[in-house]
Amino acid sequence: MKLFDGHCDTLLGLLFSKREPGALYRSDLHVDLERASAMEGYAQFFAFFGTRDFFREGDIFERFHARFLAEMEACREHVRFCRTGTEADAAIAEGKAAAFISVEGAEVLDCDPARLEKAADLGMRSLCLSWNRANEICGTNAEDPDRGLSLKGREFARLAEERGVLLDVSHLSDPGFWDVEKLARGPFAASHSNSRAVFGHRRNLTDDMFRAIRDHGGVAGLNLYAAFLGEGEVTIETAVRHIEHFLDLGGEKTVAMGGDLDGCDTLPRGMRGIQDVCLLEQALEDRGYDRPLLDDIFFGNWRRVVGD
Ligand SMILES: [Zn+2]
Repeated sequence: MKLFDGHCDTLLGLLFSKREPGALYRSDLHVDLERASAMEGYAQFFAFFGTRDFFREGDIFERFHARFLAEMEACREHVRFCRTGTEADAAIAEGKAAAFISVEGAEVLDCDPARLEKAADLGMRSLCLSWNRANEICGTNAEDPDRGLSLKGREFARLAEERGVLLDVSHLSDPGFWDVEKLARGPFAASHSNSRAVFGHRRNLTDDMFRAIRDHGGVAGLNLYAAFLGEGEVTIETAVRHIEHFLDLGGEKTVAMGGDLDGCDTLPRGMRGIQDVCLLEQALEDRGYDRPLLDDIFFGNWRRVVGD
């Protein structure tokens, strides 16, 4: 299979565990390149994430960027930094993984438009305006859930889109989601969010939200964190239910993957990490879904949204 995944926190895991650069190739985290190399192609958004709770001082983006570049260099036989779909195609054709940069939470950029522009110049292709913590840009679905985008937030979002950065609504408050929906000129994404109709967690998308993403030509990446998929015993079948619900909403070109690997502690039973995403594809194949649809869900939909 080929996989294009919209969200992982593997860089955070590498930074916090004090592993040496090169550990992206082999580690005991959810994601490493050695296990991913069993796939026919692999593209991944690597999130730069951290609030001031985690990083008291310094430039958070810069800290992640330095580690990202160090991994790209140490693992250069296995991975390449990519900004576009064409670059990803070329990396994959050479048997390498395609690594994209995303930012989770505008605090990583200190909510500063100048830092946003610098990050875009350095290759940031996707931006979650918030993480769980509310910021001066927007409330979130965990904190200040009734507060949408501020005036500054709307300007920040417009600037991001102008600079070719995909807007990501995964952690935004519900009003913030609809503010982004109104201002977005192109596709936008929920990089790692499931269906609220299937499991009523605030981190998940309502059917109307999913349809709005669909109508903008964007994607919603399936999050593999068990706590967002269901209650009790969460299995691969539980994840399948979210995908099938999105497909019932006309989501063939919208539903994608955003596993949240290394950003979550519990995966569906039987899944250990990146090497087991194929089990989800197999479960869908067993239900009779055809190859073109599976290719879109697991790769093609994200590939289209990142553009050539
Ligand atoms: Zn997240």
